[in-house]
Amino acid sequence: MAEVLHIIGGGMAGSEAAWQAANMGVDVVIHEMRPKVGTFAHRTGNLAEMVCSNSFRSDDDERNAVGLLHWEMRAANGLIMEQAAAHRLPAGGALAVDRDPFAESVTAKIKAHPRISVVYDEVPELPTEGHWIVATGPLTSGNLAESIRTVTGAEHLAFFDAIAPIVYAESIDMNVAWLQSRYDKGETEEERTAYINCPMNKAQYEAFIDALLAADKTNFHEGETAGYFDGCLPIEVMAERGRETLRHGPMKPVGLTNAHKPEEKAYAVVQLRRDNKLGTLYNIVGFQTKMKYGAQTEVFKMIPGLEGASFARLGGIHRNTFINSPTLLDDQMRLKSRPNIRFAGQVTGVEGYVESAAMGLLAGRMAAAEILGRTLSPPPPETAMGALITHITGGAEAKTFQPMNVNFGLFPPIDAKGGRRGRKDRYKAYTDRAKEAFTAWLA
Ligand SMILES: Cc1cc2nc3c(=O)[nH]c(=O)nc-3n(C[C@H](O)[C@H](O)[C@H](O)COP(=O)(O)OP(=O)(O)OC[C@H]3O[C@@H](n4cnc5c(N)ncnc54)[C@H](O)[C@@H]3O)c2cc1C
Repeated sequence: MAEVLHIIGGGMAGSEAAWQAANMGVDVVIHEMRPKVGTFAHRTGNLAEMVCSNSFRSDDDERNAVGLLHWEMRAANGLIMEQAAAHRLPAGGALAVDRDPFAESVTAKIKAHPRISVVYDEVPELPTEGHWIVATGPLTSGNLAESIRTVTGAEHLAFFDAIAPIVYAESIDMNVAWLQSRYDKGETEEERTAYINCPMNKAQYEAFIDALLAADKTNFHEGETAGYFDGCLPIEVMAERGRETLRHGPMKPVGLTNAHKPEEKAYAVVQLRRDNKLGTLYNIVGFQTKMKYGAQTEVFKMIPGLEGASFARLGGIHRNTFINSPTLLDDQMRLKSRPNIRFAGQVTGVEGYVESAAMGLLAGRMAAAEILGRTLSPPPPETAMGALITHITGGAEAKTFQPMNVNFGLFPPIDAKGGRRGRKDRYKAYTDRAKEAFTAWLA
């Protein structure tokens, strides 16, 4: 009897995974809990419901990493991109869609596919047999989350993200900042110089605290808060608790000597820690925040050394269920301890509709290939999909793993020696290289 692929969750990732696998000739069953079991963010029983914004972000496939992901998904006959195009709304360079007709059409296309059936029920436990993809998203049901925790270990499943801003290493002014681990701790030179440090004097610190207190903050969505602040307070909340709190917390200056001005003792120090193996991205340690994006760029550029910083992603705190993929998944997105189960979508620690659908596309193709007796290698890391899957299944630092958007910092650097090309030309070089590699991979 032909083997069936079961997919838990009919969101962005699950719908795309089903479409891809079915088009490769594999029978698929989607198990979707809505409308029987709801979430605080979904409103309908449609597949691929957009829970908040109606935008798939930039559609510029030449100079933007998300736009490149759109291009790759279109090249791979992605359902989400096909239906996004069919329901596109005017939005400048962004791909915005009419959300309800979009989700209704995805649902109709899936239901009309002769190889896909949809069962409307919650799957409460990780299955032990058969081919499965878990694509249950940031609001995975409580029962299934508990089962994942039991199988993977409690420390490998998070219920919210606490994202500190991530900065492109090349945009940090190393004439001001310096490399050093606190108290020069570490066995190797690499460990002793693992952090980038940005010093502040008293006046700079006071101005920074004033800016934090005055900055515009975002509100939590209804149902999002549920007691998850312990151990990861937003920096602006720390600042509200007292002007000195940060100086005794993530901005403490102890154990650090300014390499450029060894005689000057910093009043406070902002530390950045490497965020990927490539060393192209650094996160600002302990700087999770609910400040609005515009406010974040303004406030963080007040930090000496970060005046010209480019951000690969800004900070945030959200209700978000995700696994520690770098520890748990192999490069086929299979759970190492139960290889009959793949994970896809936001639950793997990618962030956003587009990234989630892209990981669904890959998981669907990989699972179908396996059922058909073949192995499909992941796309090369020079492609947007390849960069993302490489990041979540090994490139990211497992200890500090937090959800990630696609961005050029995840790609192997281009033109590393010359580096004189303008940023726009460099991004074009990234996307040209990616398109060639993706086309070859598809073939
Ligand atoms: C409040 C909120 C706001 C967001 N805003 C944005 C935004 O503006 N832009 C953006 O790009 N991203 C946003 N996101 C992230 C967005 O949800 C994801 O990027 C995207 O929807 C993830 O796709 P997915 O397929 O992984 O998960 P989803 O699209 O959430 O799909 C998962 C599906 O699994 C189902 N499910 C869960 N558990 C079970 C179970 N046990 N059995 C059966 N079915 C189950 C759910 O009902 C759901 O349909 C937001 C997330 C939240 C929570």
